[in-house]
Amino acid sequence: MKLTDAFGREITYLRLSVTDRCDYRCVYCMAEDMVFLPRAQVLSLEESIEICQAFTELGVKKIRVTGGEPLVRNSIGTLFEQVGNIEALDELTLTTNGSRLSKFAPQLAQAGVKRINVSLDTLDAEQFTELTRFGKINDVLQGIRDAQAAGIERIKLNAVILRHRNLDQVIALVDYAVANNLDISFIEEMPLGQVTEHGRETEFCSSAELRELIATRYTLQPSDHQTGGPSRYWSINGSDSRIGFISPHSDNFCSSCNRVRVTAEGKLLLCLGNEDSVDLKAIIRRYPGDRELLKQKIVDAMSHKPEKHHFYQDDAPQIVRFMNTTGG
Ligand code: SAM
Ligand code: SF4
Repeated sequence: MKLTDAFGREITYLRLSVTDRCDYRCVYCMAEDMVFLPRAQVLSLEESIEICQAFTELGVKKIRVTGGEPLVRNSIGTLFEQVGNIEALDELTLTTNGSRLSKFAPQLAQAGVKRINVSLDTLDAEQFTELTRFGKINDVLQGIRDAQAAGIERIKLNAVILRHRNLDQVIALVDYAVANNLDISFIEEMPLGQVTEHGRETEFCSSAELRELIATRYTLQPSDHQTGGPSRYWSINGSDSRIGFISPHSDNFCSSCNRVRVTAEGKLLLCLGNEDSVDLKAIIRRYPGDRELLKQKIVDAMSHKPEKHHFYQDDAPQIVRFMNTTGG
């Protein structure tokens, strides 16, 4: 059994959310007063590992652990250790806000994690605390250093730029990436969840605008680097750092989509920009241990994968999920 959807796309990449909780409340991701899922509704670590096993038996080669903040999940080290041991898997990776990276970096490296994404939207300490509502930038910068020291080979920064908040940080972030041998991707803000802190449209900065801004300082060359993801990469003359742009608004990357997501409550989402889902937790809890049935349900779900995302309908945002429940 392989995972191929109705449009002939082969699914080889799973993004697994292990929690909807987080120690930050980034202004573009969450409202200030979030209500999180009751613990009983969240997949147990054993259930998450079972789902990873099933997907790898169906040809998935890469798993990214995400959230919420994955490193706030209890006993998360065990999940990395066990999923890292799945032979059929080529790559186990993580997206983190970096707040607890210093603590977990050695364990992650030990589990075979070689590349990670760390979210960082500014280098200004005060602005960092404002954007994350709680964060301390030094935890993240130290986490990045500790991850490099632990042997994690490649770190990519993810930055969301909001016009009236951190547009002035774009060059500083690229300078920091270049000086520390990191890659960096700029992500266009997506209309996931109602945020009250700012209007999404007034804050929007397109990838093209950011690229032009960076080009005032660096000579960018289009790069053929591919991660199978939506990032379009550019290289910088004289540096190993790559600059990526993820443009869900201005660039439709759906035709090469190779991924699906499992939310913290065990919903298999076929597309970030559509609400269609299949409840894998219900299947696992009703038929515990029946991996063949679970695999069959996953295979069947592929026919629901839409051709492309629909963040907007009639110009109105229509996705009600917050990014932290989906898994970024
Ligand atoms: N907590 C981890 C982190 O911040 O890296 C992992 C989960 S977070 C939801 C994953 C990524 O989604 C982060 O890089 C974050 O910047 C991005 N993100 C969150 N909300 C977003 C939104 N509305 N539009 C675009 N990116 C968003
Ligand atoms: Fe937490 Fe990541 Fe969302 Fe920020 S982007 S609130 S760190 S889940």
